[in-house]
Amino acid sequence: MASDRPDNSGGVHASSTGVGEADRVRQSLRRLPSVEWLRQHATIAQQYVGEVKDQDPRLAQFAREALANARAAIRRGEPLPAREELIVVVRARLREAQAPYLREVINATGVIAHTNLGRAPVSERALQQMIAVARGYSNLEYDLAEGARGSRLTGTRRALCELTGAEDALVVNNNAAAVLLTLAALAAGQEVIVSRGELVEIGGGFRIPEVLAQSGAHLVEVGATNKTHLRDYTAAITPATAAILSVHPSNFRIIGFTERPDLAQISRIAHEAGLLHLHDLGSGATFGTEQWGLAHEPTVQESIAAGVDITCFSGDKLLGGPQAGVVVGRHAQLARLERHPLMRALRSDKLTLAALEVTLRQHLSGAAQREIPVARMIATSLDELAARARRWAQEFKALGLSATVEQGESTVGGGSLPGETLPTMLCVVHENERAPDVAALAAHLRVATPSVIGRTLRARLLLDPRTVFPEQDALLFQVVREYL
Ligand SMILES: *Cc1c(COP(=O)(O)O)cnc(C)c1O
Repeated sequence: MASDRPDNSGGVHASSTGVGEADRVRQSLRRLPSVEWLRQHATIAQQYVGEVKDQDPRLAQFAREALANARAAIRRGEPLPAREELIVVVRARLREAQAPYLREVINATGVIAHTNLGRAPVSERALQQMIAVARGYSNLEYDLAEGARGSRLTGTRRALCELTGAEDALVVNNNAAAVLLTLAALAAGQEVIVSRGELVEIGGGFRIPEVLAQSGAHLVEVGATNKTHLRDYTAAITPATAAILSVHPSNFRIIGFTERPDLAQISRIAHEAGLLHLHDLGSGATFGTEQWGLAHEPTVQESIAAGVDITCFSGDKLLGGPQAGVVVGRHAQLARLERHPLMRALRSDKLTLAALEVTLRQHLSGAAQREIPVARMIATSLDELAARARRWAQEFKALGLSATVEQGESTVGGGSLPGETLPTMLCVVHENERAPDVAALAAHLRVATPSVIGRTLRARLLLDPRTVFPEQDALLFQVVREYL
């Protein structure tokens, strides 16, 4: 019968000859614990609150797998594993099975709205509101004053109109959805004129010609890649034209011999012909990015002031909120969007709306640069970044690594401000005897808990403090310490 205590007497070593080896294998196999013994012992975990029992129904399966692997190893000539070892294997497998795949990472890349790392982190205040609304019930579609059915968009609509100066606003799942819904509701079966310089592809398969086709509208291309004149638009207008669509070339830039009419001129000719002027603005800046030495990213307010009827933008690029697509503009057209059958399919959930409303209110109250991570990261001073890069380098050197502080460049990301960079101070880890392979260090940091993502460049690991929250510094040091 299997002993109740873990048996640490493993280590019956392989002998090289036939009969002795067969005996060893038989004996070792017999001394392995039962599935039930292993399951029960792996059930109990020592945690900071004392012993807790884990009831995960998969424990028996993990115990069976661990024993099957142990049997195979014994037959290959490996020694009988200690029972403690088997328990550790099962607990590790359990932790792996219970850990969510989607998890927090520390972004040390210096790319602020990093598309692969979840774009904009939401502000603490927005997060608290999401928790409050998620945890219990809310007035999502209930008018508290009237005691009657209400609209889920009331809060975000008010804040968007106040922030952008638009007549009306609505919110859907993302900007791709906002553009699709706009075209489907206002131009299906009709023609939409787009400049050839604006038939853009945004990362992840969003292409203006394809979205137009999907909406049921017909694309009419005008102008050339580098130049489109006002007369190109005018000449393309037919009785079947519904709208002119302007698209912000968010993620690339054409320089040199170029020309495009400004928004106000396009709006004017659209309105003279009785057409709508639609604008896919992309990142949806509501503040002037030039105050930080960046190029000017066109703002929502400018689009509305130019006379554009409908403007679409993302909630989680420069706005710094949750993933959302915002449509602002004229009430008559937005009412058509709201009645369109796609609206129900593309609408935002209550958590998004809770976070977006709070984010918009932070922009309105002047708190954005203090409280919204994207704005705060853009506005962080070089002095502050240098101080943190120096502290990181000191910490790493104390651990035996070779680290220096160097000038570098951060970017805004999220398909905005292409080619524009913000000067930053990097902590650079170089190869030495403690870390002979920077690629291996970077790989360890990626799969650590929490993950740390940096940039590797010619045997150097670049870590940019701009996109790391100051409260994550201690975690970063801990993850590096674990590697060493
Ligand atoms: C980013 C972007 C989109 C897509 O927005 P999502 O919110 O990612 O759906 C569409 N158009 C432009 C011009 C963009 O920059």
